[in-house]
This record gives sequence, C-alpha cells and structure tokens, in this order.
Amino acid sequence: MGGFFGVVSSTDCVAELFYGTDYHSHLGTRRGGLAMTNCDGNITRRIHDISNAQFRSKFDGVLHEFKGCCGIGVISDFEDQPLLVSSRLGTYAIVTVSKIMNLHDLAEESFRNGSSHFSEMSNGELNPTEMIASLINQKQTLQEGIAFAMDSIKGSCSLLIMMNGKIIAARDKYGRTPVSIGKRNTDGAMAVTIETSAFPNLDFQHLRDLGPGEIVQISNNQMEQLQKPGDMTQICSFFWVYFGYPSSNFEGINTECSRYKNGELLAEADENFDEIDTVSGIPDSGVAHAIGYSNASKKPYQRALVKYTPTWPRSFMPQSQAARSLVARMKLIPVEEQIRDKNLLFCDDSIVRGTQFKDITRRLYERGAKSIHLRSASPPIMFPCPFLNFSRSRSVLDLAARRAVEALEGKKIDQDCNLEEYTTPGSEKYKAMVEVVRKELGLTTLKYQSLENLIKAIGLPREKICTYCYDGCDPTGQCGCCGCKKEEKA
Ligand code: SF4
Repeated sequence: MGGFFGVVSSTDCVAELFYGTDYHSHLGTRRGGLAMTNCDGNITRRIHDISNAQFRSKFDGVLHEFKGCCGIGVISDFEDQPLLVSSRLGTYAIVTVSKIMNLHDLAEESFRNGSSHFSEMSNGELNPTEMIASLINQKQTLQEGIAFAMDSIKGSCSLLIMMNGKIIAARDKYGRTPVSIGKRNTDGAMAVTIETSAFPNLDFQHLRDLGPGEIVQISNNQMEQLQKPGDMTQICSFFWVYFGYPSSNFEGINTECSRYKNGELLAEADENFDEIDTVSGIPDSGVAHAIGYSNASKKPYQRALVKYTPTWPRSFMPQSQAARSLVARMKLIPVEEQIRDKNLLFCDDSIVRGTQFKDITRRLYERGAKSIHLRSASPPIMFPCPFLNFSRSRSVLDLAARRAVEALEGKKIDQDCNLEEYTTPGSEKYKAMVEVVRKELGLTTLKYQSLENLIKAIGLPREKICTYCYDGCDPTGQCGCCGCKKEEKA
C-alpha cells in the first residue's frame, strides 16, 4: 500500500525525516525514498530498492548527504518516489499513497490534450505519482491542481508536496487512507504522517487528522487550511484489522484497542470454550486479536507459533507468490511444547488466499495438535480491493472465499455477480461457503467475524468505513462494478 511522512522545522530535521519515514516500513515492500530542501533551496533526493533490505539499512550510509529544515519521505509498494517535478507551478517534490484504476485512460486523455509523454517504469507500467503530478500541473495553483487530480482519478490518493520549504498535505477525496498532523511544542516543528505511531518517539503531539479531501499547508509552527474537507469518509477498515501499526490511532481510534475488542467479540460469538485449551495469534496482526479473545474466553494466551523477528521483521510479503510462500513458511516457527496434545484456537486478521494457513495447519498436526480452530477478525473477503495497492489480494481467484463460492456454484463467478447470500452470516449459502474453506484449510472449526462486529470493534459509524471487500458496497460509485449496493449503505 505505502506510507509517507513529512516534517518542517526551524532547525535541521534529517533525523526526524529518516525515522518518521522508517516507521512506515511495514506498509510497503519495493521502494523507499527521501527528499529534502537544502539550505540553498535545492532539493536532495534518494530512492532505494527496499525489496530485499530494510529502509534503514539502505539509507544509513547516505544520510550525510541530506541537510535541511523541510523534507518528505515515502515507503512505496509500487513506483519510484519521491518525484522531482519542474513545472509552470514551480519545482517541487511529490510523494503519494495512491492507486489509479483509470491510469491508462488518463494517459490517453493527456495525449489527446497535447501531453507528449509519460515515463515508463522498468515493468512497463506508468508511474501513478507522475500521473498525479501531471494532473496537478494542468491547473493554475497547486491547490486547484490537487483538487482536480482527486476528482479525475478512480481509486485513491493521499499526497505530500514539498515546495519552497513548505509541505502541502492532501488526504484522499474519500479518506480511504488516513493523514494526521503533529506538532512539537518545544520548537514548533510540524509533521504529517499516515501512521501516528511515528509521532511519540520524535516528540510530536498529535494535532489533528485531516478530513476527506482536505488540503493543508504546513510550515514551521504553522498550518494553513487550503481546502475544507468533503462530506463523505470511506476509510479502509483494514487499517484497524491489519495495515495499521498497533500504536497508531486512526480517526482517534487506537489500532491495538480495536483489535482487542474485535477478539473479544469473536469470543462472545463462540458458545463455549470446552474444546479449546489455548489461544494463539498468527504474528503479527493476529496477536492482538488473540489477546482480546483470550481475555474474554478466560483461556490462556500462548505462543504456539513465534515469528523469527531478527531477519523477518516486516509483516508484508514480496511481490512474487513463490517468494511469498517461502517467506511465510520461514518466518513462523512452531513451538512444539505449546502444540502437542493441545486443542488450539488461533486468531488471524483475515483469510485472503488461505494458502499460508493450510501449510500452518499441516505443520501443527505434524507436531501433535489435537484440534485446530481458526477465528478470522475480518468477514470473508469476496471482492479484491479496487482502491488501494493491497498486495495480498490481486485478483478474484486469489480469494479463498470466492474460490469456495465458485466450487459450490460449479461455475466461474464474475465481479458483477450478486453475492449477497454468501455474505450474509447464518444463511445456508454462507455456512456452505465457510465449510468449503474450513475443509480446504484442514481446520476443526472456522468462524469469521461478522461485519456488524467488525464495525463495532472499530467504533466509527458504519457509513464512514469502507467495507467493499466484504460486501461489495461502495457508496462513492468508484469501484465500477454493478454489485454495489449504494442505496442500502447510504
Ligand atoms: S476494499 Fe477493503 S482493502 Fe480496499 S479500501 Fe475498502 S476495506 Fe480497505
């Protein structure tokens, strides 16, 4: 998906930029980049491939090249960033967390309107951040251009632009990704972040979250609103379930607390716990859900699987499926003494492909588990995400729940099909779908969180949360599939 961090200070703030960006490392796997305005007004920029090494290790050796009081950084799951753009609006650096579904349509339109080219990345794709910059440059001011870019794209985009020692921050039009502003009271330094967990150790206090589509400009000790927020928020529910760091708050709601509540609600939905000896979480994001389940069920929390953190610290996976499977296997180590002759209940954030848990189940039985029960903190994922670069679900066929539906229907189910019965807990079709997934994963029992309880665990009004991947509802109409139930959600 990606994440960004920006900082403006009255003194050199390289360290803040470096660590603030590093605190987004769990959000992306491909590129890390920093850009900083030097004392002479020029911009220093570096982009590194972080697919096989951590952001920190890649930048440690070149950090001395940076010096300045204003900088932006990015962890990117796709394109090279930050881009340096020389335009009629001035020279600026830009980073985005974006996904543009109509990228090629926008490029075609630009060519028709006289644009001569877009650079291609090495994989032959266009760079979405370059497209955003191109759209911005069509207008008379950065503010107008950002609003125009947000209106033009289908997908999502939050961004930072650094120009003249100031940072313009804009949150996605529907707030799919969070953006928060922080201030250091000791010296007036200002920061902008996706993850608020970047703030405490850098001594920033959370000032406020940007609203959907809101644009602000920050400089030392100052924040100016350039565009008011819009009316509709559709923040991604996965921030609380999976993406977000435990110490981060989104819309004022802490991720760790939400996961405890989610686990507690999973436990409440279970009638009795006689067949369970211990509760464990699949590291990392399953752990807090399991603690919540354990607290509510009064069954002891134990680590039946431990993550090898010294060399597998990141929760995201490489791009290729083969490498992903290898990493998934290597980083989780079973603790046989916690497994043998036990009835084990595991909590995980979600079941996307299911391939990882299938392998885990086999390894747990090999080490003497008597029974294995799985509770998913998310409802079944039926639709791939069209709004974010959500690397774990790229196509319908990747999704365990969709494969189960296809197996039951005996035919291919396309994106536009109405899956309402399969997404309604308690319906015969829902139960049959869960049973297919349970058997596929080799589990004793399997239960998913209900959408109602997921929303309860997050604690925001339902109409503010994106739930598209569970129910196909998109009140913005951006998903472009007729499976939306806009009226129902509105
Ligand atoms: S579709 Fe799912 S992953 Fe995508 S923004 Fe909505 S809730 Fe998040």
